[in-house]
Amino acid sequence: MGKRFLAIGECMVEFSPVPEGTYAISFAGDTFNTAWYARQIATPEELEVSYFSAVGDDALSRQLAGFMEDAGIFPKLRTIPNAAPGMYMIFLNNGERSFQYWRSQSAARHLADDLTELPEISSGDVVYFSGITVAILPEGGRERLFRAMTDAADQGARIVFDPNLRPCLWPSLEDMCRWTMSAAALSEIVLPSFEDEACHFGDKDADATATRYLENGARLAVVKNGQDPVVVRGIDGDGFRYQPEPVADIVDTTAAGDSFNAAFLVEYLSRPRPREAVRAGCALARRVIGSRGALVPVSRIDVITGKACQSA
Ligand code: ADP
Repeated sequence: MGKRFLAIGECMVEFSPVPEGTYAISFAGDTFNTAWYARQIATPEELEVSYFSAVGDDALSRQLAGFMEDAGIFPKLRTIPNAAPGMYMIFLNNGERSFQYWRSQSAARHLADDLTELPEISSGDVVYFSGITVAILPEGGRERLFRAMTDAADQGARIVFDPNLRPCLWPSLEDMCRWTMSAAALSEIVLPSFEDEACHFGDKDADATATRYLENGARLAVVKNGQDPVVVRGIDGDGFRYQPEPVADIVDTTAAGDSFNAAFLVEYLSRPRPREAVRAGCALARRVIGSRGALVPVSRIDVITGKACQSA
């Protein structure tokens, strides 16, 4: 039987400019992007992918659920009456992208109000969440989600966390750092990005980031670092660095880390060979930053051939 991958978080409505002065609607959000890429590169026999969140009872929420289904992802969505999904608009100015968000009232903020609708989690299932998942919840929701994660881990589920630090979603930096470390403490695998971590935790290098998460309870830390080597450390003392091949023509770095996580996890969870998994992560991220948009259609072969990366 294949494995089950359950991502938890916020999927937003995306309005992006297209020619003719109009906007295209799509759907994206960090944990959703990772679920979407996992679905693209794993076969349905290998991996069942589900997404847990909360939406409203409006037309956009129905479109959002339909988008997930069409992508082959099982939507596990609480419905909040009179609420709507978060949204963001992309502005293009001389080729530079900027974003404006409307998410402070989004339905996803209620995803952990009642976790009886969380799908049943069994031994071997993978549960994936991020610092953004935690940031958008009220404190009670965070505590409920953490209890559910702890129960899932006790059942033998594998908890995976990307800290994805976003100060603008938190009332204070202190809150952000404290809740991030609490979420990471519940997780077996932590997938941080060094630049954010250095900025907010003062880590002197990516090894220091990995060490901080291992000392906090993770079994495996995989620290992404843009064009610099990915640093991998496990509690058994094993570790290595992996140099991604430089990308000459970066088009759009949106979802670099999200796509890395998807390919890393699909590979690592089917065969626990971290170096191969990092190679796959780099290969997919490389493809994604070479194209515009958060969700870039890819095939498994792009990742498996991995011509995009070389080992350090
Ligand atoms: P995030 O998107 O979370 O900030 P990073 O910027 O660290 O994450 O990038 C995630 C991964 O994307 C990196 O580990 C690397 O594999 C790939 N990547 C990002 N930027 C580059 C780049 N300039 N050249 C090559 N690979 C890159």
